[in-house]
Amino acid sequence: MRKGYLFAPGPTWVPPEVRSAMAAPILHHRAPEFAALFERVAEKIKYVFQTEQQVLILASSGTGSMEAAVANIMEPGDKAIVVRGGKFGERWADLCKVYGAEPICIDVEWGKAVDPSQVGELLDQNPDTKAVFWQASETSTAVCHPTYEIAKVVKEKSDALTVVDGITAIGVFDVPMDKWGLDIVVSGSQKAFMLPPGLAFIALSEKAWKVAEKSTQPRYYFNLLKERKSQAKGQTAYTPAVSLIMGLEVALDMIREEGLENVFARHQRMADATRESMKAIGLKLLAPEAPSNAVTAIWAPEGIEGAKIPKMLRETYGITIAGGQEHLKGKIFRLSHMGYITEVDMVQLIAMVEVVLSKLGYSFEKGAAVSKAQELLF
Ligand SMILES: *Cc1c(COP(=O)(O)O)cnc(C)c1O
Repeated sequence: MRKGYLFAPGPTWVPPEVRSAMAAPILHHRAPEFAALFERVAEKIKYVFQTEQQVLILASSGTGSMEAAVANIMEPGDKAIVVRGGKFGERWADLCKVYGAEPICIDVEWGKAVDPSQVGELLDQNPDTKAVFWQASETSTAVCHPTYEIAKVVKEKSDALTVVDGITAIGVFDVPMDKWGLDIVVSGSQKAFMLPPGLAFIALSEKAWKVAEKSTQPRYYFNLLKERKSQAKGQTAYTPAVSLIMGLEVALDMIREEGLENVFARHQRMADATRESMKAIGLKLLAPEAPSNAVTAIWAPEGIEGAKIPKMLRETYGITIAGGQEHLKGKIFRLSHMGYITEVDMVQLIAMVEVVLSKLGYSFEKGAAVSKAQELLF
C-alpha cells in the first residue's frame, strides 16, 4: 500500500471537506444559486485579504492575477521598480516587459530579503515610477520581503502604486492590505487557500482602480474593469471555475473558524520547528535572516547530491517536497508548512527527512531533528 504526502509549496493539501464540496453537482453559473454562492464567497474572502475592497476571483493559475495586475495598471514606457530576488520576482519583471513597461530591477541575492532603503533610493532617482512590485513571500528562496517597510518607504517618497505578490503570504502571515495601504494584492488557490490550482485572486485599492480606469493598455480576459462590474452582481465576466468556487466557500469558512491570528500562529510554530530541527542536525538554511513562514529552504549537506533528497522521499516514501530552481537546482530542498498542514504532519515529515538523509550517507545525531520539533511543537 502506498499513501501520498504533499509537502510542496503548491499545490498543497486539500482538506476532505473541501474535496466533498467540490464533488457536488455543477451549478449553472448564470443561475440564481450560483450568484448567491458567489456573493457569499466574495464577501468571505475579504476577511482573509484583510480588505474592504472587492477581491476579484479569476479562473487561472496564480500567474494570471500577476498578469492582470500588470496589464491593468502599466502602459508602454511606464517605469516600474521590481524586487527581483527569485523566480517570482523575475516573473514581475518579465510581465512588465511584455506589456511595454520598463522595469528597473533590484537584484537581490537569492536567499536574502530586499533592503527597503534601496527601494527608496531608486524612487529618489526615478520619481516618475508608476508602481513598485515585490513578493511578500518569495517561494523559490523561502524569503519574506519586508512588505510593511517597503510600502512605507514608497508612500513617503512617491505616488507609485504598491503591488504585492501575496501568493504564499495571504493566509500564512499577516499582510493587512488596507491597514498597510497596499494598492494591489494577488494570491492563488493552491497555496494557503487549501484548494486545487485554478483560481487567482486580486484586490485593488481605490487609487489602483483609478489608474486602471485611465489606462489605454489593451486587455481582454484580464480586463479587471469588466470583472469588477460583473462580480459586483454575483457574476463573472466569463464562465467561472464553478467547482473550485464551491470548495472555496468551505475553505474560507475553515479559515474563519480557526481565526486568522491562529492560522498565522500555526504557520509560525511549524516554520520555527522546521528551521530549528534542521539546524539541530547541522544543516544550514538558505534564508536564515528573513525566512518565510510558508516554506523553509535548506542547503543539502556537503557531499550529498541535493536532488536525491526529494527524489528518495518521493520514490521510496510517497512524500513530495520541492527541490531548488535555476542555479539552486540540486543544491537546496524546500519543505512547505503552508495550508492544510498541522504540527502532527510536520513531525512526520521531519522524521522522514532524517531517514532519507541518513540513507544518503549524511552523518548526524539521529533523532535530534525530531526531538527539537517535538520540543517546539507540543
Ligand atoms: C506559486 C507562486 C506563483 C505562481 O503561481 P502559479 O499558480 O504557478 O501561476 C507566483 N508567485 C509566488 C510567490 C508563488 O509562490
